[in-house]
Amino acid sequence: MTAQHTGSTRLLIVGPQGSGKGTQGVRVAEAFGIPVVSTGDIFRANIKEGTELGQQVKEITDAGDLVPDELTSAIVRDRLAQPDAAHGFLLDGYPRNVAQVSHLDDFLIGREESLDAVIELSVPREESLQRLALRAKDQGRTDDTEAAIAHRLDIYERETAPILAVYRTRGIVDTIDGVGDLDEITERIFAALGARGLQRAA
Ligand code: AMP
Repeated sequence: MTAQHTGSTRLLIVGPQGSGKGTQGVRVAEAFGIPVVSTGDIFRANIKEGTELGQQVKEITDAGDLVPDELTSAIVRDRLAQPDAAHGFLLDGYPRNVAQVSHLDDFLIGREESLDAVIELSVPREESLQRLALRAKDQGRTDDTEAAIAHRLDIYERETAPILAVYRTRGIVDTIDGVGDLDEITERIFAALGARGLQRAA
């Protein structure tokens, strides 16, 4: 059964680093006319600009560790309270553990909202590692060292993968094969969302 949709679309994209969730997230958000809210991007922008937040999180993100939940959740709440997120959003990189899931639940319940779908981009660890090694060469991200990459994938498997079990009990997870042609993967996502009655703006 597909619920009657009100025009607001609230999505979360989850996948290991190197799964392509950043790229796919931007495409999906554009198609639905909603902003991407990426905690990784917010942290990187603050580090680049040398803000107080940036200075606070630089070492943590460089090591591939997680920024404290309270701090991260406060930043996301602020971002989601901005007008452009009133009619939907696509979260990328948050929530990243079950504590953050409860923080997000509290926030959304307070607004009488909920997530419509969670897109899980499934990519084998070996493939993620290869893609991340390439990205390290291309983009020179300071957290793309070999040790930090392996550490981030471990954290994903230990802390982030369990959030999918929570969302699965709510029946909102679509697992998408993240291996293959970029356009094909985008189409797989659109098809899964369409099956839930979530229609693109354009
Ligand atoms: P990402 O671009 O999503 O891989 O995020 C880059 C880095 O930012 C991560 O390795 C973490 O150090 C930090 N980060 C991003 N999102 C979160 C989050 N939801 N909770 C804690 N740390 C985060």
